[in-house]
Amino acid sequence: MSEPETTPTDRQSPGGFAALGLRDELIRTTSALGYEEPTPIQREAIPHMLTGRDLLGQAATGTGKTAAFALPILNAIEPGAEASPCALVVVPTRELAVQVSEAMFKYGTEQRVKVVPIYGGQPIQRQLQALRRGVHVVVATPGRAIDHIRRGSLELDSIQTVVLDEADEMLDMGFSEDIETILEETPPTRQTVLFSATMPPRINAIAEKYQDDPTRIKIGASETAADRALVRQSAYIVTRHHKASALGRVLDMEGPTAAIVFCRTRGEVDELTATMNGRGYRAEALHGGMDQQQRDRVMSRLRDGTAELLVATDVAARGLDIDTLTHVVNYDVPSSPESYVHRIGRVGRAGREGVAITLAEPRQRRLLQNIERLTKQTIEITKVPTVGDLRAKQIEVTVDGLREALLSDDLEDYTSVLYELSSEGAIDRAIALAAVKLYHQARGATADEVEIPDASERMLREARDARGKGKKKTHDHAGGPKGKGKGKQRGNVGPGTSLIFVGLGRRAGMRPGDLVGCIANETELTGREIGPIRIADKYSVVGVPEAAVESTIAAINDSTIRGKRAHARRYVD
Ligand code: AMP
Repeated sequence: MSEPETTPTDRQSPGGFAALGLRDELIRTTSALGYEEPTPIQREAIPHMLTGRDLLGQAATGTGKTAAFALPILNAIEPGAEASPCALVVVPTRELAVQVSEAMFKYGTEQRVKVVPIYGGQPIQRQLQALRRGVHVVVATPGRAIDHIRRGSLELDSIQTVVLDEADEMLDMGFSEDIETILEETPPTRQTVLFSATMPPRINAIAEKYQDDPTRIKIGASETAADRALVRQSAYIVTRHHKASALGRVLDMEGPTAAIVFCRTRGEVDELTATMNGRGYRAEALHGGMDQQQRDRVMSRLRDGTAELLVATDVAARGLDIDTLTHVVNYDVPSSPESYVHRIGRVGRAGREGVAITLAEPRQRRLLQNIERLTKQTIEITKVPTVGDLRAKQIEVTVDGLREALLSDDLEDYTSVLYELSSEGAIDRAIALAAVKLYHQARGATADEVEIPDASERMLREARDARGKGKKKTHDHAGGPKGKGKGKQRGNVGPGTSLIFVGLGRRAGMRPGDLVGCIANETELTGREIGPIRIADKYSVVGVPEAAVESTIAAINDSTIRGKRAHARRYVD
């Protein structure tokens, strides 16, 4: 899709990042990333942080809070400035340390900002080298930060800003002493910024002790939409890696007449539009970089049914009102409850029923709970449909279609086909089945054989762990509820999942259900923990949680599948 001739900053709305007082490099970068306007937490936090005052922010993951503290930190760094640490960001887990430093690096590209994540579990030598070479921003887990402070490898004299990110998680994990030590070791003149999804008294106590009259900000409460009862609201918990396929699977099940899918950035809009078109959906992109004519064209295609999916950013979809809309999809949890209410308000109008679907990552549970609490509505956590669910649905739709066709009064027009085939010896039943097959396939009912791992159980388990944990854990050696599921991500496999090779495939009659049945019967795993599954001609590959790999291999080797011995071993790429 061609973009109109505009400079990057023109493409942001007048209330965009430029209005927050950020330097040009950062405005250009956010625009290039496709951020059309600041999220609520960014709109509030950035101007405050730029004044150098302390900040106490209540916001969960997914609200855009990383950029809310990263951009003001980066704002103080002159391009090419000497690399001594000016900011220290303390986070609970290794995963978050990597994520935050990647974000910092991305936002600071134009200024060539040097960022280093330091966390337990990685050889300290590498971190020592990086620190020696010079950095502007250090993102650290508490235990490893203390380690470097003790060794003298992390110089704190020049630190101007300390951010405690996900402070409640850090306290839950038993890091309160470490956090206090870090705060005591940094210059008293520092700016102290504390972000937490919840504000228990222990957080307030830290704020009281270490912050200087902080400005408090919170993602505000929302007005509850009047008649949301008509809108079925559900959320599917999947890892980022499986989002696009989960969206396809859910839409295949839902069969929307017209749906709008909200994404955060223009880039995501374009990418998802291409992916959904590849899956056989007629999808159109709508984002702030398009001129009015292009937008009108897209809208009319959705209205007249030429397109069935509109993939859009919030800004682009502003004021959009389409009567035929049956589904609203949040491809990401929206950054505020207001935005959620606003988005789903596009269905369920004028007494019509509608469906609101949200795809959430396991670590966004707090954000979902926030939305539920503030909207006083329940978002039902729904299992991602399995291959079996989808097949059953496809058959149901085929049966409905044929049932309707049976009632039409022009069936006799086709008797010549029947005579011709009968005269060649085909029996009626076989002819009927062949016709069913053609119809079924023509509707695009694909034989999708890959299960999409459902992460809702992992999310619940993590929530339980986080609640049950007040004790200090083995510092940050990949620890913490979020450190779980670490490791490689290969092909279609989410973190924490490992693959097993099984020496029976399609030719031996193997089907996904056979593998799931065998593993679920012979091991402690439930069907939901098994997957993805790929059935090739001569072999199959199945994913299971890493901790269960060996026992699963042993169990498969002791069983027969479809009457045959199956030989299993760890899958090697
Ligand atoms: P966070 O809450 O920091 O984990 O951010 C969640 C996601 O939102 C990340 O993928 C960011 O890249 C994205 N994001 C942050 N700010 C914006 C924005 N203003 N517009 C669009 N996406 C954003």
